[in-house]
Amino acid sequence: MKTYFLQFKVIPTTDNEKYHLAEGAFASCWVLENNPETAVTKAAFQVSKYDWEIIGLDLSPIEVSEEHFTQRDIGLEQFRKAQTDGMAIVYMAWARDKKTSTGPITLKSSYKPDIQGFIKEQKKQKNRGRCLHFDAGNQCQEIISAHSIQKSRLLLAISKDGHVYTLSSEVSQLNKSMGKPTYQKKGINNLSTFLGFCKYHDNELFTPIDDQYLVPTNQQVLLYAYRSLAREIFIKENVLNTLRHRISKTDHPFIKQYCEDYKSGTEFGFNNLKRHKLLYDQSLKFNKFDDVRYVLFLSNRKPNIAFSGLLYPDFDFMGNQLQHLGNHKQELELITFCSAPMSNGWGYLFSWHHSSSRVCIDFMRSLATMMHDGHNVGDILFRMIILNCENCAISPEWWEALSETQREQITAKGGSNALPFTPMKNTYLRDGLEGISGWQFDSVISSMD
Ligand SMILES: [Zn+2]
Repeated sequence: MKTYFLQFKVIPTTDNEKYHLAEGAFASCWVLENNPETAVTKAAFQVSKYDWEIIGLDLSPIEVSEEHFTQRDIGLEQFRKAQTDGMAIVYMAWARDKKTSTGPITLKSSYKPDIQGFIKEQKKQKNRGRCLHFDAGNQCQEIISAHSIQKSRLLLAISKDGHVYTLSSEVSQLNKSMGKPTYQKKGINNLSTFLGFCKYHDNELFTPIDDQYLVPTNQQVLLYAYRSLAREIFIKENVLNTLRHRISKTDHPFIKQYCEDYKSGTEFGFNNLKRHKLLYDQSLKFNKFDDVRYVLFLSNRKPNIAFSGLLYPDFDFMGNQLQHLGNHKQELELITFCSAPMSNGWGYLFSWHHSSSRVCIDFMRSLATMMHDGHNVGDILFRMIILNCENCAISPEWWEALSETQREQITAKGGSNALPFTPMKNTYLRDGLEGISGWQFDSVISSMD
């Protein structure tokens, strides 16, 4: 027997008592079967037994092996479960108001998850503003909705009538796209914002990047990295608190254990984020701006995408292992990346604290090797963002001028490395999405050791 991985997009039926709260969910299925067709039928039957209706096959069945999930705790666990039970299914739901993923939920026929309580807690966390500035204290009176992507010169520059395209899983769009998550037009005012800084500290700290073009100075690079990091800390802390709440509210032993496992993995990533933030806190506090290292690709053209994110690089651009994300005993090294407005175009900025140089330098060297071997740097950098960054905004003018096929190719890959159990191969950064971005870089500035 082979193991197939596939994913449905589901919505709650009107019989579902949480119908008004949960807009939809991904049902990820691991199925032990002889052929992909039977795998789909078998999984569809199982999913339909609950109060959810399948609206599309989000990911067609692919044959998977254990190695697809070696870095993914949840995926690996489900893969193994399928080997003994014949099938394993994980649901990931999101709220009706906007895309707020509730994290994995596993259903058994005897169990109805308290989605209402979960979503309520998640909203509570999201709206719990706090200042993440290294010197936060009494002066942090007014928490503001801060943009994690540079707004005045970047988001605005790529927008059209105040709108951009961004990755979305809203059902109204899914129906049009046969159940696939897609890029949807949204207003830029609330896009990529988070309640992670007070007004005073946000203004005080980020002026060199909010009011000025990227030069780059070390201080600017550090600030861009700090903002990516702060957003991720804000999000991951919310996920952890929501999981803790869920664990405290459930008596179901299977769900409890499942959430505990998920929490332990999330906690590991979060603790590493906190450790990195402390390093950056110290650098900023004592103006040690040269603690940062970076590689900046400069383009004289107009930007068509704006983004900000981070990654614990597990594999380099060619597929070589850099660090083991599943080994919870080691400290993870971190790279941040973003686009930034420059006086003569825009920059694609990779940066890291010097303590992450071991992994990050190898990561950047593999990129240089790919370029040396004739791969287009624009294609490589574009692929990296589409796969690894959900916090990304696309120019409507550019998006609407793409062919239908090109948009489908991007949508198929969009954010796929962000889900904790989607199978990814070690070579996921090596190819795909060629000839789409149109990105051309004119020079590179690096402060690598
Ligand atoms: Zn503050």
